Amino acid sequence: MINLFNLVLTIDCRDVESIKSELVVYVSDQVAAIPTLKIHEFMLSTLDDAIIDKNTVISAIKEFLESIGESHNFAVISNNDVISIKSISGKIIERDSIHNSELATCNHCGYITNYDVDLQNHMKIHYL
Ligand SMILES: [Zn+2]
Repeated sequence: MINLFNLVLTIDCRDVESIKSELVVYVSDQVAAIPTLKIHEFMLSTLDDAIIDKNTVISAIKEFLESIGESHNFAVISNNDVISIKSISGKIIERDSIHNSELATCNHCGYITNYDVDLQNHMKIHYL
C-alpha cells in the first residue's frame, strides 16, 4: 500500500528562518529530493514521485543543526507529512545579517527575499 502523505514532505522552518536556505540545500542533497521554497517552510518531493524517507530527512536536519552547533536549541518534530523545527529555548538563529539590507527579487516569478543567498537557491528551482 502506498502512503500518499509521504510523497511530499513539508519542513516548517519559521524558527530557523535565517538558516533556511542553507538547510534546504543540505537536506535536499542528503535525501536526493527536489526542494520548493515557501515563505516559512520548504517542501521536498522527488522527480519520480518516490516516497521520501522521513527518518532520513529528520536525520539530515539534525545533522545540519549539529554542524552549526545549534542542535541542543531546537527540536525536530514529525507530524504526518510535516516536519517542524521548533526552538526549545525561544532562541532564534540570526545569521546573514550583514548582506540583507536590500531586497532581492526573482525576475522569473517575483519571489522576494532579504537574502542574496536565498535568491540564488530559489533561482535553482527554475532551472531543474
Ligand atoms: Zn522565481
